[in-house]
Amino acid sequence: MKALQTRIPKVGFVSLGCPKALVDSERILTRLRAEGYEVAPTYRAADLVVVNTCGFIDSAVDESLEAIGEALAENGRVIVTGCLGAQPQRILERHPQVLKITGPQRYEEVIASVHEHLPPRHEPFVDLVPPQGVKLTPRHYAYLKISEGCNHHCSFCIIPSMRGRLKSRPVGDVLREAEALVRAGVREILVISQDTSAYGVDLKFSVDAWRDREWRASFRDLADALGELGIWVRMHYVYPYPHVDEVVELMASGRVLPYLDIPFQHASPRILKLMKRPAAAEDTLARIAAWRRAVPDLTLRSTFIVGFPGETEQDFDTLIDWLDEAQLDRVGCFEYSPVAGAAANDLGEPPVGDAEKADRHRRFMEHSAAISAGRLAAKVGRRMRVLVDRIENGVAIARSSADAPEIDGVVRVYGARDLKVGDFASVEIVGSDAYDLDAKPA
Ligand code: SF4
Repeated sequence: MKALQTRIPKVGFVSLGCPKALVDSERILTRLRAEGYEVAPTYRAADLVVVNTCGFIDSAVDESLEAIGEALAENGRVIVTGCLGAQPQRILERHPQVLKITGPQRYEEVIASVHEHLPPRHEPFVDLVPPQGVKLTPRHYAYLKISEGCNHHCSFCIIPSMRGRLKSRPVGDVLREAEALVRAGVREILVISQDTSAYGVDLKFSVDAWRDREWRASFRDLADALGELGIWVRMHYVYPYPHVDEVVELMASGRVLPYLDIPFQHASPRILKLMKRPAAAEDTLARIAAWRRAVPDLTLRSTFIVGFPGETEQDFDTLIDWLDEAQLDRVGCFEYSPVAGAAANDLGEPPVGDAEKADRHRRFMEHSAAISAGRLAAKVGRRMRVLVDRIENGVAIARSSADAPEIDGVVRVYGARDLKVGDFASVEIVGSDAYDLDAKPA
């Protein structure tokens, strides 16, 4: 048996990648804190360092490998987890001296490895964690991960091979976690997964009791139940399937925020087919128009890839025309970058040159910025409710229902001295630019 520590063991933690990886980090940290570990603020103060990596695209792999190298140079004792951990050979080629490599969601293996290299000091009455766990986001908003994995096979993506098939959490577990977050002061929950619209399919929509009612593990029931909590509920990673209409109805009644994050990725049917995108055959423009009729205030956010192998100038024009028609509110765009192991590498389609990719990216962003500026200008004079994220030089930096943290714009509220972080406030919009709004207290 290993000796228990008498001094407090300290773990350094580096969390890279998307919000889903952030939730994994929070789970590991919650467990370590519960066992009496402290989180060290610097490499030097730590007894060992856990690096939660991202392996989504090659630039993320490089960033992860660099972070591991830095942790090794500064501390020397490093455990690697996360998406890149699913490809241990890529890590070992550069950093053979890491203590352990585990794949994504291998919480138990990470914890076991920490125990092995840094035994816990057990003081159950001192080591209590707050009931909502350890959060890496500000106190007033939190990501709620409802499932792992994905049943799709998008040709540019290796997440299903890294994270496995869809595995939804039981709806009762998800709702109890959400309730604990709200009790701890969370005012906004951001629902995340690889495919939120598929939630519960693998559970055959099994039923759980919560708050004296039965709820199915389905996208609609989950949204409805979260709406009971009286906070902001924001839906990310939704695909434009017909059953999403039921959740749009809940948005129309104010139960959840009128906001949908749908990664369309492209609009040319040929490219969508090559990408093997979910719901690629849906008439997305008709669906968007119907949603906007039902919820005029609906904010649509999306991401796109330009320069996918085989993308012609004509495909790109189709995308721009679609964008003109769809008038999305928030848009991100990436130049295609090949991912080792992805099916897109073997499509036999000609790659788009780097200069052409960069040019299409620039044209896309100019176009979407003009759409965004027009849609924001139309909000000047309106009143809206905002949530304050931070105070900068006396200005409250807040968000409306149209803004997810970190990826969308902000509402700058001037002249509201009493506002504090985490407050809701009513404001009147007085100005706009390409991505953000200016406001005063209403
Ligand atoms: S939906 Fe496609 S892009 Fe998203 S995780 Fe699944 S396979 Fe990857």
